[in-house]
Amino acid sequence: MNILVINAGSSSLKYQLMNPETGDVSAKGLCERIGIDGRLTHNANGTKTVKEIAMPTHGEAIAAVMDALVDAEIGVIKSVAEIDAVGHRVVHGGNKFADSCIIDEAVIKGIEECIPLGPLHNPANLLGITACQKLMPTTPQVAVFDTAFHMTMPAEAYRYAIPTEYYENDSLRRYGFHGTSHKYVTNRAIALTGKADLKVVNCHLGNGSSLSAVKDGKCQDTSMGLTPLAGVPMGTRSGDLDAGVVQFIANKYGKTVDQVLNELNKKSGVLAISGVSSDFRDIEEQATAGNADCELALEKFAYEVRKYIGSYAAVLGGLDCLVFTAGVGENSATMRARICKNLEYLGIKIDAEKNKIRGCENKISTDDSAVQVWVIPTNEELMIAQDTAALVK
Ligand code: AMP
Repeated sequence: MNILVINAGSSSLKYQLMNPETGDVSAKGLCERIGIDGRLTHNANGTKTVKEIAMPTHGEAIAAVMDALVDAEIGVIKSVAEIDAVGHRVVHGGNKFADSCIIDEAVIKGIEECIPLGPLHNPANLLGITACQKLMPTTPQVAVFDTAFHMTMPAEAYRYAIPTEYYENDSLRRYGFHGTSHKYVTNRAIALTGKADLKVVNCHLGNGSSLSAVKDGKCQDTSMGLTPLAGVPMGTRSGDLDAGVVQFIANKYGKTVDQVLNELNKKSGVLAISGVSSDFRDIEEQATAGNADCELALEKFAYEVRKYIGSYAAVLGGLDCLVFTAGVGENSATMRARICKNLEYLGIKIDAEKNKIRGCENKISTDDSAVQVWVIPTNEELMIAQDTAALVK
C-alpha cells in the first residue's frame, strides 16, 4: 500500500510516500516558499533533488510533489493512481474530532469551524487538503488530528476553572497537541512492554514539548492546553504561567494582549532564561562551558518536566513506564538523566551506560527499576499513514 502523508503549513508543505505496514519511506520532501516563489526538495532512491518551481498556491506545490513522485528519473511510482490514500496532519480538531476520519464535506466544515481554536494552522492544513482533492478527486483523503488522542481525558482534566459560558459557548478547554506522537509512542510502549493496561507518562521533548499521562492506551491528561503555549517551558514558549503576568506586562508597558502573547510564544522559554538560544544543543554546550544562565535554563526545564512526571504518576495512581521522545527526549542523555534525578522514590532508576545509546528504541532503566524507562523515537508520519490505511481498507 502507498500512503502519501501531507503536513501543510502556511508557506511550506512536507510529504512522505510510505508503506504503512513496513514503515518504509520511498520518497519524502518539502515544498518551501509557497506564495512567495517556490522550491521543492525531493529525496528518493538515495538522491536529493532541489528544484525552483513557481508555487503561487498550495495547488502548484501539490502538483510539483505529484510530478516528482511520477518523474522518470527521480520518481518512485508510475502514476498518481498508485497512491492508495492521502493522510493529512490537521492541528486542531476541537471537540469535534476524537479520532482520525475520512474527509468529506462535513469534515471540511468541522475543520473550518475549529479555525478560531487553531487560527495559525487549520487554514494551512485545509489548503493542503483542498489542493489534493482537486488533483486526486478519486483518492480517499484522511484527516489525522494533533488533538484527537487527548479526547479521552476526563472532564476534571480538560475543564478550565473559569466561567462555564466560555466552555459552553466557545469550547474553551484543554485540548493538548502532539497527539499523533503521543499515540505512536504509547502503542510502541505497549508493544515493547507487552502490557496493554500500561500506566505510562510520555515526555515529548523537542522545540515544542508536551507530556501525557496514559492508562490502558487512553490519554488521561496532557500538559498543553487550548493552545500549545501551556505546560513545560519550551524552546521559545513560556509554558504554564500565572495569567496575572500578562496583565502586569500589558499594563506597565502599554502592550496589547496579542503583543504579550507573542512574547510568551516566541521570546520566552529556555531562549529567555539562557539568553543564548532556543536550541538545546547550544544551551548544553554553553552550560558545559560554564554559562550559569544556560545551566539555569536546563535545570528549569528538567524541574518542570519532573514536576509533571510526579503529578501524572499521581493522576495514574502509579507508574509502569516512562517514555522519552522527540529531539531532546531522544538525543539528550544528559537531559534525561537530569530529569530523572530524584525520581528514585517513584521507582525510576536509569542505567548510565544504557542511557548513552542513541537512535533506536532503547530501554534505559536498570534491571531493578520498578518503572521501565524507554527512549522511543517518534514517527508521526507512520502513525498518520497507519491511521489512514486502517480507515480506507
Ligand atoms: P524537535 O522539535 O523534536 O525537532 O526537537 C528539536 C530540539 O531537539 C532542538 O532544541 C535540538 O537542539 C534538540 N536536540 C537535537 N539533538 C540533540 C542532542 N544531541 N542533544 C541535545 N538536544 C538535541
